[in-house]
Amino acid sequence: MPIYTQSEYIYVLGNTQDAGMPHIGCKHQFCLDNFNMYEEYYVTSIAVVNQEKKKYILFEATPDITYQLNYLKDNIFQEFLLPEAIYITHAHIGHYTGLMYFGREALGSKNLLVKVLPKMSNFLKTNGPWSQLVTLNNIQIQNTKFDVSNSELNNIEVTPIKVPHRDEYSETAGYIIIGKNKKALFIPDIDKWEKWDKNLIDLVKDFDYLLLDATFYDSNEINRDISEIPHPIVSETINLLNSLSKKNKSKVYFIHMNHTNHMLNPNSDLSKSIINKGFNIARLGQKLYL
Ligand SMILES: [Zn+2]
Ligand SMILES: [Zn+2]
Repeated sequence: MPIYTQSEYIYVLGNTQDAGMPHIGCKHQFCLDNFNMYEEYYVTSIAVVNQEKKKYILFEATPDITYQLNYLKDNIFQEFLLPEAIYITHAHIGHYTGLMYFGREALGSKNLLVKVLPKMSNFLKTNGPWSQLVTLNNIQIQNTKFDVSNSELNNIEVTPIKVPHRDEYSETAGYIIIGKNKKALFIPDIDKWEKWDKNLIDLVKDFDYLLLDATFYDSNEINRDISEIPHPIVSETINLLNSLSKKNKSKVYFIHMNHTNHMLNPNSDLSKSIINKGFNIARLGQKLYL
């Protein structure tokens, strides 16, 4: 028996906005360069891994899921493994369409557990092609509830919480992930922080890791008024958290970056300035021990 057992950890499987990197039709140099090194960037997703037991749970089923599960195989398990469960935040393309790869045209999985909130559950059950995954038992949907925790792996508690977002097809969840020693908050998509009934500064003090929506760094990226962009702008988030201690700032991991956001490039001046301010940027392959 090992005296010391390592805790579970969050494993970052992607950090881009829904449409990925490179972005369809984009002519900017960073996107063009990345047509030649596609594997470096995947759509936002995290796994929580129990390495000892060779088990994991997955957050989000992205359009890059084929590569992401292969990435887990190559870097963690040395064999292809399906997750114990998949949690999904909401019904925008980067967050759930990877489910199609579990269907009959692809993997043809059996009773893969997908845990979603009631509106998302209904959306999947009543709209093709997702409904076929349900009728063929490729996936098995289990409903979750806001603010009710789910036990996973050995020591993990997962709780969906409500966040404000464009809810055309489903509600939008963020997830609280509590491990043996640490707790994390995963909020890949949210409208403005001020539309939320929670205070971000208090949350940063309370949690150990916060993976937060960083879709756009500032409004110049898309030439729209800041107030019209349904995401917290990273420059605003940084201002909001500016008074926090260095230790608290270092708990923030920006994630879900649009192709126009230079934070995606680890070598950009913008990435360096954000790190210098004491914040972190989520990168593929990063481990955050719980
Ligand atoms: Zn998204
Ligand atoms: Zn681009």
